[in-house]
Amino acid sequence: MSDKSIFSKIIDGEIPADKLYEDDQCIVIQDIQPKAPTHLLIIPKQPIPMLVEARPEHQALLGHLLLVVGEMARRTGCEDGFRLVINNGEGGGQTVFHLHMHLLGNKKFDEDDLAS
Ligand code: AMP
Repeated sequence: MSDKSIFSKIIDGEIPADKLYEDDQCIVIQDIQPKAPTHLLIIPKQPIPMLVEARPEHQALLGHLLLVVGEMARRTGCEDGFRLVINNGEGGGQTVFHLHMHLLGNKKFDEDDLAS
């Protein structure tokens, strides 16, 4: 049985997905169950299971992912207001154990409710 995450299968082309952006380090896809009008997943090609497992050698990659978030926010017209979420571990609501960032935008967020 393959222990590849669903995101690794998408990256490797084994599962079809509409890649909105791709470079040598990451891909960006639409979340299949969107929680906002814009709900993108920024996914590193390197399969780090979760943020807490990232190490100093991943520093440049993590910075790159944030730059891609900014680029995607501009492309989707939500650069003036978006939320960036990383779920870490089961307790943090993570369901796919391949590090990814959720870019949520084109929705008004409640400034008093960061944790809903
Ligand atoms: P998390 O709960 O932070 O691990 O987020 C995983 C996200 O991946 C969820 O929001 C799912 O809706 C999304 N997801 C799972 N499978 C797919 C898929 N095949 N294509 C796009 N998004 C997916």
